[in-house]
Amino acid sequence: MSQSPASGGVATDGMGTARARCVLAPNPSPMTLDGTNTWVIAEPGSAQAVVVDPGPDDESHLRRVHKQVTAAGQQVARILLTHSHPDHAEGAATFAAMTGAPVLAADPAYRRGGEGLAPGATIGAAGCEIHVVASPGHTSDSVCLHLPADHALLTGDTVLGRGTTVIASDGNLADYLASLDRLRALTDQAELTTLLPGHGPVLADPAATLDYYISHRQERLAEITAALDAGDRTTAQIVARVYADVDRSLWPFAAWSVRAQLEYLKDTSGLPPGVQY
Ligand SMILES: [Zn+2]
Repeated sequence: MSQSPASGGVATDGMGTARARCVLAPNPSPMTLDGTNTWVIAEPGSAQAVVVDPGPDDESHLRRVHKQVTAAGQQVARILLTHSHPDHAEGAATFAAMTGAPVLAADPAYRRGGEGLAPGATIGAAGCEIHVVASPGHTSDSVCLHLPADHALLTGDTVLGRGTTVIASDGNLADYLASLDRLRALTDQAELTTLLPGHGPVLADPAATLDYYISHRQERLAEITAALDAGDRTTAQIVARVYADVDRSLWPFAAWSVRAQLEYLKDTSGLPPGVQY
């Protein structure tokens, strides 16, 4: 989910890298940008494919993904979830029934077939190696998937193709900041050249994107500290001040971010008396 408007993007359908291709789900909204990016991963020539984030439970979309895989002479070997938000995971059970493939997820409640997605693990499938990278923050169960052969990282909602990410109600800002630092370090170590986000266009400069995300978070924290210094004491007051330039329909989601930031400030520098969130 994003806090930026859906307009102005480049459709990702059919885009990607040598081994990862996007099938765009038809669920555009202010929170999902152009829609959910379902990623199909396979080594060229492989008889298998891995599908990441089948998306919403939309049969026409799931059939389209399946058709693209079978048209390439492949079978779906595994279904992976970057996190359990419904715009990524809701269609997983239907897609598993359609393809016979297991669902691997960090959250055991979303698995089909028992296999998990443990941070640090390597999934070998469809001729590819996929490394599971812990990235909690947007949600507690968020992971990124590193495809070293393409110097690419599938980021789910941890990094988006446009705008910035919201900390969801089960997310945590301290975790999120640590995840961004981890991904920034991985960018150099693994010489990442491409980020494949869960929404919005493919990103060709991972270092610049992550640097922006990190500085954006620091700026928002500074704005919230300034709002508290100016006397704001409620989430609504802070949202109205800090997100004045953001469409009001997104303020409920901005409120999640403000609460996450107040929680973070409480645990780090402390909050003035009387703050309600
Ligand atoms: Zn999400």
